[in-house]
Amino acid sequence: MFFVSWGSKGEVAEIGPAGDRHCDRCNQDGPFTKMVAYRVRHIYWLFRWVTDRTPFLLCGRCGSQYLADQGDHDAKQERDAIPFWDRRGWTIGAGAIGSVIALGSIAAAADSAADSGYVQAPHVGDIYEVDLAKMMDKPEARVMRSAMRITAVKGDSVEVAVANLYYDDWRGVDRDITSGKAAQADYYAPGHASLPVANLKRMRDDGVVYDIHR
Ligand SMILES: [Zn+2]
Repeated sequence: MFFVSWGSKGEVAEIGPAGDRHCDRCNQDGPFTKMVAYRVRHIYWLFRWVTDRTPFLLCGRCGSQYLADQGDHDAKQERDAIPFWDRRGWTIGAGAIGSVIALGSIAAAADSAADSGYVQAPHVGDIYEVDLAKMMDKPEARVMRSAMRITAVKGDSVEVAVANLYYDDWRGVDRDITSGKAAQADYYAPGHASLPVANLKRMRDDGVVYDIHR
């Protein structure tokens, strides 16, 4: 069985005053406000990103909403109006991975010489079979078997992408790795998290990592 755990929620943010304008609804001139509607997409609340930014104007008298014209459209203002957490949440989520792992007290997994070498010298393209439930303090399921791929190695840290689905057993993950699906970029959530290389060993010692494929 598999679950695609994409979520989304709609939000609005205020950009700022748009000056006095005429409202066709209440038929008066009055102050308008520039607003932006957007959608926060998230995966397991770890990786968040914003889509569907729609600027609009709000009549201060009657609350009517008008789609913003080209002239009222400013991509930078719209981006800046969106709260930091919604824009950058996935970066904070990546920090949370580190702290949850630090608190983890899961029994060590059986060791294999090859895997312990991989965590000390990671390569781009390494695929880790991981239990996401063990990476979160409030997992949405008891077991969340998934894949994490190394996308960059930068000195003492690695960038990783996390698959956008999970399974309740390892066979689903193994199948995706064997078939090559897990080697495709679109198998993963768009956000990349940065982790210290030392955390890879820790994840393995704590049983978060089940297997590593190179
Ligand atoms: Zn109005």
